[in-house]
Formats: sequence, structure tokens, C-alpha cells
Amino acid sequence: MAIREGRWDCPQCGNQGNRGSELKCPACGRVRAEEVQFYAAEDAAEVTDEAALARAKAGADWICEFCGATTPADQKRCRGCSADRTEKRRAVKELLDRPEAPAPAPKKKSKAGLVLAGIGLLAIAGGLLLCRAKEASMTLAGVSWERTVEVEKYTTVVEEHWRDRLPEGARILSTERKLERTDKVQTGTRPVTKTVEEKVQTGTKKVKVGKKDLGNGYFEDLFKEEPVYETRQRTVTEDEPVYRDDPVYADWCRYEIDKWVKDRVEKASGADKSPDWPAVAATDKQRPGKKVETYRALFKDADGEEHEWTPKLDEWQRLEVGRKYNVVTRLGSVQGLAAAE
Ligand SMILES: [Zn+2]
Ligand SMILES: [Zn+2]
Repeated sequence: MAIREGRWDCPQCGNQGNRGSELKCPACGRVRAEEVQFYAAEDAAEVTDEAALARAKAGADWICEFCGATTPADQKRCRGCSADRTEKRRAVKELLDRPEAPAPAPKKKSKAGLVLAGIGLLAIAGGLLLCRAKEASMTLAGVSWERTVEVEKYTTVVEEHWRDRLPEGARILSTERKLERTDKVQTGTRPVTKTVEEKVQTGTKKVKVGKKDLGNGYFEDLFKEEPVYETRQRTVTEDEPVYRDDPVYADWCRYEIDKWVKDRVEKASGADKSPDWPAVAATDKQRPGKKVETYRALFKDADGEEHEWTPKLDEWQRLEVGRKYNVVTRLGSVQGLAAAE
């Protein structure tokens, strides 16, 4: 509860460092008023004089509603105009030495990052330049097509699996007892001792955190009780589970089963404009599976260089061999035909 005397500056004559116990300016005689701000002198000694301590603890000065002068709490008449005491008081304020730490500033982008970003943009721009579509007049030199059909056959195949996962219709040929998996089974526990570190509060210490403006020319030191910790080691014994590996055996089966499997691929192709599917008859032993169709167009540019295009069927069907087209290429491969033709 250390009390220290504050200071104030006179707003009328500018005299600085008037003592907190002075109720009017020693330089110009002006009565201390509401606008005066008290401040703590860092080197101020602790007040020990009984009368001064009593004044410091009497409470904040009251403020005259008529003339604004401030008067000690225990005096009933205004030191400025002799008016009767009223309710308005100077504020009592707590002033902390270390206000809350400000939030960390947002991370700035590093220079290296900006340079990398720049290089990235250049690379993209260069790539776009290289990849830019080009348009050229070319002659359609020829067309071709290719159609394939996978043929599946119904046949007997031999496969292997665990007995409880066999497909329907499987006919077992032979079985063998095999290790399927290992199960972990807890058989008990065993005590394990380890050292743990823990923070233990061993007491508290008084820390000066700031001061309180008592509103009467005096300041009081502010303290806070802070916990004091110590790191202690402690051994603890815990039960850890103990496991046993249990092998699990099961029947591994070789079996035969009738099913559709891929047999071969039938292919039809031509250099005309009449594509057809290869004939695959559907019987109980054979059926057509996945189908793939490819259509090609071969263009020749002004230099006689060839460019191949694989369009969709409807685009391909509209092409006429011998005609000139505006062909769009990118990185040497044909993208399509220019819209306006
Ligand atoms: Zn003054
Ligand atoms: Zn007054």
C-alpha cells in the first residue's frame, strides 16, 4: 500500500511539476480545477507522514459544479467560490505499467515469394504464347475409320479364394488349410513405471503492475499476486495391456466356375466414309462387349506437311475429301475447324 505524491502542471501559467499536495499553483495562485491532470513522478518517495497519508486515503477531490475548482473530499466549501459541496468527484483510475500486448502484425509477404510469383507469371505468359492456337488453310487429303468390339466368351475358369467368400456357382476342386490372419488377444496387463514432469504451484509472489490515480494528487502502487511454479518429476506406475498373437486358419479353395470372360477383340477399318461394326454373333457361348470407334482426317498444309485430326463421328461425316478447310492447330496438333469457313 505504498502511497506516493503525484505532480501536476498549471494550465493557466504553465508552471510544471506542482506537487500533488498543493491545492493551488505556487507560481500564479490559480486554484486547482477539473482540467488539471495528475501524473506520477517515477522517483517519488513513499509518503510516510500521517497527515499526508490521511489526505491521500480520504478519497477523490470533489468538483464544484459552479466554478470547476477541485476541493479535498473532507472539505465542505469550494476552494474556488465557497459554494457547498456537491456529488461530482474526480475519477479514480488504475494505470497499468504494461497494457495488454498488441496483436502481432500480419505476416508480410517475403521478397523471395514475390520473385517466385513473378517467375511463375512469366512462365504462364510464355506458355500461353507457345500454346496459342494457329489457323491455316489445309486440304483434306483423306479419311479413315476404325471400329473394335471386345468379344466375351462363356467358359469355365479356375480361381482361388477363402471358403466363406466363394462366388455363387463355384465348384470346389481342392482345399488347403492356411493361415488367414493373426488376432491380437489381450491376456492381461503388466505394470510399467515412467517418469512424468509436472508444473506445481509452490506459492505466489507480489508483482508491481502499475499505480492508481487516487484523484487527489496522490498515487497508490498497484500489486498483483502472481503464481510461482516449479517443475517436479514424479514416477507413476500404469498397467499396460499385454497381448498374445493367435493364428487363425481357414480353408483356401481352388474352384472352377462358369463365367463371361474377355476372349478377343474384333476389328473393322476402312479408308472410306462407310464405317461398320465388325460382326459378332450373340450366342449362349459368345457375346459382344465394350465397343470403341475412332475416326481420322488427314490434312495437308501449303508446305505439303500432314496433320492428323480425330474428330467425333458427326464432324467426320460432314468432311469432304479434296476440299480446303481452315484448320486450327495448337502445338502442332489439330484442335478443330475454324467456325467461319
Ligand atoms: Zn499557475
Ligand atoms: Zn466553486
